Amino acid sequence: MELVAGIDFGGTSAKIGLVDRTGRILAKAAVAMKAQDSFDEIVAPVARCLDGLLQAHADRKSLRGVGIGTPGFIDKKEGLLIGGCENIPALKNRSVQAALGAAFSVPAFADNDANCAAAGELAFGAGRTFTDFVLITVGTAIGGGLVMGGRVYRGWRGFAGEIGHICVNPGGLWCNCGSRGCFEQYASGTALSRAYAEKLRKRGRAGGEISAKTVVDAARAGDTLAIDALQEAGRWIAQAFGSILNVLDLEACIVSGGVSDAGEMLLEPIRRNLPDFCWPQIGQDVQVRAGELHNDAGILGAAAQAFGRLEA
Ligand SMILES: [Zn+2]
Repeated sequence: MELVAGIDFGGTSAKIGLVDRTGRILAKAAVAMKAQDSFDEIVAPVARCLDGLLQAHADRKSLRGVGIGTPGFIDKKEGLLIGGCENIPALKNRSVQAALGAAFSVPAFADNDANCAAAGELAFGAGRTFTDFVLITVGTAIGGGLVMGGRVYRGWRGFAGEIGHICVNPGGLWCNCGSRGCFEQYASGTALSRAYAEKLRKRGRAGGEISAKTVVDAARAGDTLAIDALQEAGRWIAQAFGSILNVLDLEACIVSGGVSDAGEMLLEPIRRNLPDFCWPQIGQDVQVRAGELHNDAGILGAAAQAFGRLEA
């Protein structure tokens, strides 16, 4: 059996799994991280954890590679994390890819977590039947990945797919990237929570602590303000998807990440609004779907991009 390790670095933990070619996770674990941890304090426990998983659940010789997903901009040659990883500052200008590749004497491949999500849906999830699609991960922020000709498109350095930062509203809200009117400011989980809180405030209803999950749960329970907030986010997402479809002529648009748990409450307004933002011939027959990998998306995505790059 051929295995790769899929490792997904988030803000507070690294999730680690052993994955076979069919997308089955043989074993998984998580390692806690703190923002002030040094590079070695982050990487050494991850390596120990992976070593433990291999000893307990697999023949070490079956490990073909290590796939790594992190936030930020990753140089595709060296695996160097150039920036955009403010939650894990110790990884900046370092290569987790080089460290783990050396530790396990196998090829290692690091990529942006949204590119990994696209690779994961392509190999094991909602993208299995497509060769050309765009994926967005809608969570605290918005990540993006492009699959063209059956492969993740990474651009010349590896930075492609920053869909969260295309401008959908010139002169609009300021974004942490330094620009204004970025898509992320209108359709992320953070934006959804903000929009719902504003609607509640205008009607004199107490808000309390509102997360994206609060909004999705309220919409599911029939709260019209929460449903409206999802409808508006859906229209912004349709705008971003429509622009991308016009340029790339893709088969499908996939929405993953926590907010995609809203299912049809989010997908329906995307489908309904899409014709306003792309050529009819280009939008025709485009499938709009939710991602299928849910809680294991990070591990499976990191593993899938490693399998894909081992083959290439
Ligand atoms: Zn931005």
